[in-house]
Amino acid sequence: MSTRPEIIFPLFSALTVLDGVGPKIAKNFENLGITRPRDLLFTLPYSGIKRDLVATVQGAEFPNVLTVQVTVGAHKVGRTKSAAYRVQAEDQETTFQLVFFHARGDYLKKMLPVGATRIVSGKVELFDGVAQMVHPEYMIAPEELHTIPKFEPIYPLTAGVTQKTMVRATRSAVTLIPDLAEWIDPAQKQRAGWPDWRDAVRHAHEPTSLAELSATNPARERLAYDEFFAHQLTLSLARAQQRRAKGRVTQGAGHLRQKVLAALAYDPTGAQTRALADITADMGDPHRMNRLLQGDVGSGKTVVAFLSLLIAVEDGGQGVLMAPTEILARQHLEALAPLAEDAQVVIELLTGRNKGRERREKLAALARGDIHILIGTHAVFQSDVEFHDLRLAIIDEQHRFGVRQRMELGQKGAAVDVLVMTATPIPRSLALAQYGDMDVSILDEKPPGRKPISTAVVSLDRINEVIAKLRHAIAEGKQAYWVCPLVEESEVLDYTSAEDRFKRLRAALGEGVVELVHGQMPNDQKDAAMARFQQGEAQVLVATTVIEVGVNVPTATIMVIERAESFGLAQLHQLRGRVGRGSDKSTCLLLYKAPLSETGRRRLEVLRETEDGFRISEVDLQMRGAGDLIGTAQSGIPRFRIADMESMSSLMATAQSDARKLINDDPNLTSARGEAARVLLWLMDQDQAIRLISVG
Ligand code: ADP
Ligand code: MG
Repeated sequence: MSTRPEIIFPLFSALTVLDGVGPKIAKNFENLGITRPRDLLFTLPYSGIKRDLVATVQGAEFPNVLTVQVTVGAHKVGRTKSAAYRVQAEDQETTFQLVFFHARGDYLKKMLPVGATRIVSGKVELFDGVAQMVHPEYMIAPEELHTIPKFEPIYPLTAGVTQKTMVRATRSAVTLIPDLAEWIDPAQKQRAGWPDWRDAVRHAHEPTSLAELSATNPARERLAYDEFFAHQLTLSLARAQQRRAKGRVTQGAGHLRQKVLAALAYDPTGAQTRALADITADMGDPHRMNRLLQGDVGSGKTVVAFLSLLIAVEDGGQGVLMAPTEILARQHLEALAPLAEDAQVVIELLTGRNKGRERREKLAALARGDIHILIGTHAVFQSDVEFHDLRLAIIDEQHRFGVRQRMELGQKGAAVDVLVMTATPIPRSLALAQYGDMDVSILDEKPPGRKPISTAVVSLDRINEVIAKLRHAIAEGKQAYWVCPLVEESEVLDYTSAEDRFKRLRAALGEGVVELVHGQMPNDQKDAAMARFQQGEAQVLVATTVIEVGVNVPTATIMVIERAESFGLAQLHQLRGRVGRGSDKSTCLLLYKAPLSETGRRRLEVLRETEDGFRISEVDLQMRGAGDLIGTAQSGIPRFRIADMESMSSLMATAQSDARKLINDDPNLTSARGEAARVLLWLMDQDQAIRLISVG
């Protein structure tokens, strides 16, 4: 089925088929992301106005939209052209005024003849103690009362699309709705009390009270579920395709892991052990592993990754670990090299910096199988990089790695097991949306003995005090990060601000004590600066967010973040996670520029209150909204028009298990319900999924 089913054609025609929509208005609709009748149907009213007929405006709360029957009184023309035109109106109890600006008297005389009975509807407010209705939206004869909706839906608008246009176009789109076969599991539908799709759409556009606009209204909830379900079907199809693809059975004998575990200075946490058991089982099974390892900052993902790579090596294969930056790749190598030595495993680094002969030699060694574990940046996935026998690919800290990219990686065909590690915890609904095609292991337990980090929120006005304290701390031999503000859209500004801060701190704290790293620096300078900090020769590292993910210098105990209000919560949590890694007590200072907005303050307070990354991520989602939290375009998560990820994580979870079950029972979507689900995929523009079925 590589063509759209005919039954939904009308919903995908040009917008101009709708009442009141010509080419010009259709163009205006584009600003709302509406180009087809389908888009309009999925754009729901967010509010509504009651227009029930009332006896009088007397005693109402103002301002308020009221609909009353009146007897038209005298017309009073404004004295100047710009003055208001006023018409007296008498309802059952009181007299008020209908007010018009830039009025055309002859038109108003026709609409509102003196002495006539009319029904008027509009916003009534008090002006100098007199009730007035400015520009009534309806002025009609009593027998036309039925043309006023008792409850009028309010839609999002854009320039050139009025409420009236919107209502009219939507009404006409509603008439195009076909009756579609049901794709929802009957038991689920019944349990939730959801209407059929057609009724749900219709109902969502014809609310009769504010209560019906609530997200838990059955019609709306069903439509939200449909969006989630379509997305989860896509992910489940990708997952099924992955699982069908032949994998390798990789079963290590355990001898290398035992050596490393014996050499480690600590025991793995329960969570680490559980994650390793999941990974071991996946690798030992003929399906291809596609697993997400989620863990908070400092929960110890690196050692889990390494032990997993050893499984591949134990079985005579190879593994690769890809980090998002050069600094992290290097750091992984440094952290793992001693463990690799314990296990007598050959580990090598490959990054974009390896050129010419050095690179050729590394590639040759890799192809011969002389390198067991390769660590690197995205350079490790370049097309000329060939392995002798690659079994496991680990992608570290890749919150920037979207569904689509992962699917493409999967489609490259190698029967390689894949483990993705996220940098920070993400909220449950986002995890389901972004990683719903994967199996998930969670490190929800931190290694024992960590000291809490004390976090303070301080105004930048007190920067001199902060620097004085820093000087004191340095004299005691402490080490600090100083993270410079994020300047939006401009890496250049980013690093000039870091350079300015660097100069100022160097002047205040002394030459040689302070180092600087930012993304624009030549690599060798960057490495040298990092190395001096890591070895304790430099005590302060001024940095842009290049240090955000993963950097591990356990002796550093102070984190200063300048303009903390400009960072995302997850990012602040991640940055703070750079300290508190050793046995000494750590401090984090969040410097903000006053005045701080109410929400700005609340966000920083959350960090003061908790170090639990999962909790912080939920708060972040609530406060910022999903659209902001994820680079949506890259993440592969569709823009849900009705569903809302902030509050509907359990609906998303239901959609995931339903989708997985359907794809499991009917992998090619050929049953009656499967066919219906295909129509849903078309309806929801899930072209990735459609391609998967077409290939499948
Ligand atoms: P992250 O999950 O943020 O990548 P890391 O893997 O960098 O965390 O681990 C953070 C620190 O915790 C490292 O210094 C590591 O050696 C240490 N570590 C990892 N697991 C344990 C454990 N089970 N017990 C004690 N320390 C551990
Ligand atoms: Mg890490």
